[in-house]
Amino acid sequence: MTHFPPLDGLLAGRLEAVFRKPAAQQPVWPDPDRAREAVAALSRAEPIVAPEETARLARRLAAVARGEAFLLQGGDCAETFAGGTEAHQRGNLRTLTGMAAVLVQRAGLPVVRVARMAGQYAKPRSQAVDALGLPVYRGDMVNSAESTPAARTPDPGRMLRAHACAARTMGLVRAFCPGGAAGSEIYVSHEALLLDYERTQLRVDTSGPEPRLSSGLGHFLWIGERTRRLDGAHLAFAELLSNPIGVKIGPSTTPEQAVEYVRRLDPHGEPGRVTLVSRMGHTRVRDVLPPIVEKVTASGSQVIWQCDPMHGNTYVSANGYKTRHLRQIVDEVAGFFEVHRRLGTHPGGLHVEMTGDDVTECLGGAPAVAEECLPARYETACDPRLNARQAMGLACSVAEMVAA
Ligand code: PEP
Ligand code: MN
Repeated sequence: MTHFPPLDGLLAGRLEAVFRKPAAQQPVWPDPDRAREAVAALSRAEPIVAPEETARLARRLAAVARGEAFLLQGGDCAETFAGGTEAHQRGNLRTLTGMAAVLVQRAGLPVVRVARMAGQYAKPRSQAVDALGLPVYRGDMVNSAESTPAARTPDPGRMLRAHACAARTMGLVRAFCPGGAAGSEIYVSHEALLLDYERTQLRVDTSGPEPRLSSGLGHFLWIGERTRRLDGAHLAFAELLSNPIGVKIGPSTTPEQAVEYVRRLDPHGEPGRVTLVSRMGHTRVRDVLPPIVEKVTASGSQVIWQCDPMHGNTYVSANGYKTRHLRQIVDEVAGFFEVHRRLGTHPGGLHVEMTGDDVTECLGGAPAVAEECLPARYETACDPRLNARQAMGLACSVAEMVAA
């Protein structure tokens, strides 16, 4: 596939090679010609973010990696087209900003704010079909959550809608948080999952130690737990990008794998280029994380250690809701801090799924959401989010840990 704007020989060849590697979690488009047309149209569309902004985030993240700042990242598990109202987006930004303010005031460390926003429309799934035998919902960028065969058929035109929604959302982020002072910046991030979307909007960037591609689709991109295989397309793609990169690491991650992610993604030893996002579960973090941190530290690389206390603590409640308990979420963060304090490394960040809406998706908090409350406002398109009160409660707990 030709790329727009054209890439130089070496990068073009390496990008082509990425797409020959196995890629997990991709939809099978029913009409490949329409998918190619959508990718071509996306390549000609406008970028969501500017390379200069992404480069500025990279500098902020270098400070996090050096232990001088904290990275706070959060937002919906899955953004949706219908849910992307101004009220919803403003609520999420307000909650993220509120959490950051608590951390700044009580922990006295600058906070780099990164929203899961303006591109978080594709979801990895554990199963290919749902309980009704329909193809699973893979995020609004791919298909619709509605339970009909037609709605679940992947539609490449949705990538264009996702891009338009992302552009509108980014406009709102800029209006809400005009740049300038470092304290008011908000960056956007999403999981780099759907490669037909991610392969568009790439610009050659020669500002770093080697020519790379700056993705205009988000400032910070991460590779998920289900697509982090070392011989896969997602890792090879991330290697080519100049954007800061996260890798989610679950409890099956070996120290050797973690070192290999860092070696591949950060061959030049740039502090903060790689964020390792541990999501081990509250019962495992204290055992599984230390050998990983030790081995990566010994390799000499200055990564950001970020805790995602959500994805390892998901379970189904007695009344049938996919949920998470705030107590276990706080416990995973506590375990993460214990490990880093003991090893002398910087517990540099938090990655959460939350919203400003008063939803009842996660349990606990004050006043507590109890199991029987879950049906009242269970609105997520994918994983359960903290509501604003729960998110602020978590920020207070984390601020104490940072300050300790
Ligand atoms: C997510 O962040 O929504 C997600 C799917 O995470 P993970 O890849 O860690 O499971
Ligand atoms: Mn999720």
